[in-house]
Amino acid sequence: MSSTKYIFVTGGVTSSLGKGIISASLAKLLQARGYRVTIQKLDPYLNIDPGTLNPYEHGECYVTEDGAETDLDLGHYERFLNIPTSQANNVTTGRIYQSVINKERRGDYLGKTVQIIPHITDEIKRRIKLVGQKKKFDVVITEIGGTVGDIESFPYVEAVRQLKWEFGSDCLAIHLTLVPYLSAAKELKTKPTQHSVKMLLESGVQPDILVLRTEKALTLDIKKKVALFCNVNINSVIESIDASTIYEVPLLMYKEKLDSTVLTKLNLPTNKDPELKPWKQFLYKLKNPKREVTIGLVGKYIELPDAYKSITESFIHAGAANDCKVNLVSIYSGKITEENCNEKLKDLKGILVAPGFGHRGIEGKILAVKYARENNIPFLGVCLGMQCAVVEFARNVLNLKDANSSEMDRQTSNPVIDIMEEQKNVLEKGGTMRLGAYSCKLKKDTKAFEIYNKNETVERHRHRYEFNNNYLADFEKAGMIGSGFNTETNLVEIIEIPKHKWFVGVQFHPEYKSTVINPHPLFVKFVKATISE
Ligand code: GLN
Repeated sequence: MSSTKYIFVTGGVTSSLGKGIISASLAKLLQARGYRVTIQKLDPYLNIDPGTLNPYEHGECYVTEDGAETDLDLGHYERFLNIPTSQANNVTTGRIYQSVINKERRGDYLGKTVQIIPHITDEIKRRIKLVGQKKKFDVVITEIGGTVGDIESFPYVEAVRQLKWEFGSDCLAIHLTLVPYLSAAKELKTKPTQHSVKMLLESGVQPDILVLRTEKALTLDIKKKVALFCNVNINSVIESIDASTIYEVPLLMYKEKLDSTVLTKLNLPTNKDPELKPWKQFLYKLKNPKREVTIGLVGKYIELPDAYKSITESFIHAGAANDCKVNLVSIYSGKITEENCNEKLKDLKGILVAPGFGHRGIEGKILAVKYARENNIPFLGVCLGMQCAVVEFARNVLNLKDANSSEMDRQTSNPVIDIMEEQKNVLEKGGTMRLGAYSCKLKKDTKAFEIYNKNETVERHRHRYEFNNNYLADFEKAGMIGSGFNTETNLVEIIEIPKHKWFVGVQFHPEYKSTVINPHPLFVKFVKATISE
């Protein structure tokens, strides 16, 4: 292909329409036709990255191989495309302004007045083009966060206007809107879409394709009406009807010919059909489970479906791999007490204790670990969940009653989980944890080795505290062993209890690496353990 093609995805009418899933689905279809595709998310908020955001604000923070703390949509991109993203795939307004202000301080603008147009928009354009440079990708899909019309989104829409002019037919704009169904009138309404497109037009951007989110199938008349009012061809009005699972959306978009419409508009060949066999096989397994299992997710953000997004998706992948529907039950650790623990957890066939920060709900998590350990219930501890498993073992097996993580109790005389040496003098919060991919060697004849079936693996991290190696010998003597170790520092990355049916804790986040095509072995084997008698 001669030049990289750029596709912009904007959203109108309301947030949460699923731009990320539409972008990922289109990317999947193009990839399945043999194109090299990546997706970038531009977020219009002022934080440098979502790493400092509370999950209540923004859902899960997704971590890439190169250690970027990013928007959870990047998780969808990786799960759909099965290729890693990086820092360049997620840019916020904060980062854009930071670069521009740094340049200004260095004197790079040579005395000029620094302005939103052209300086901020130039920086946005530079970040977009950067992803397409070096010809690594045939197509770059850039999703603009927020909703058209927001003050925050304005510089991004302006950058899209300029790039459409610059790239000409190598570029197109997709606009996603909502067609609400008014039950009193028994009608689907197109006016919000018309208004939203009008707003884009006011900013000088004519969308090439409209994707309409809807609860009910769109009639031809509705499509015609939208096409007429919004200056698009009728083939470019794409229905996106609610789906039972996000993994169905690529097939729905294929049925609506979103991919071939895009390719035609970009002057790219459409003769080869997308190879969707593995995807369809996964979907078939997902929709036709042979059994069900109930697993508890013990965490402190249970009322937020997005807070543990990658974990819930990993269970979907792992469930399908086991022909099993995983009913994931969220349990708020803040409400688990010694008195109600058995009652709350008694129906679970497996327990995952979630990652997290801070003190809230920690004792409930430790009680959940104890329950899993004593009742031989398959257990997976992820990051803080692993640390809780270590603390629980220290208190109840090693009899170190005040054992704790120094994150929770700085005064403890037994910091079995302790702050990493290099973290001790870190004061700033943003981007300062141990982040991104580290390799881990796996000890032979352990569950970890059996799970991965190799000597070494690479997993992503996001934490400041670690297993305190001063206690390792005592733990191993008492029955909890280290089975994965950081290749360079020898820090414990995986712990397990060999005598238990399936008890594994990992300091890293396996959930960031589970994809449709490559479900993560830890989740696959964990689910398997919950269904085997
Ligand atoms: N709070 C713990 C730490 O910083 C665990 C972090 C996590 O679960 N991601 O080490």
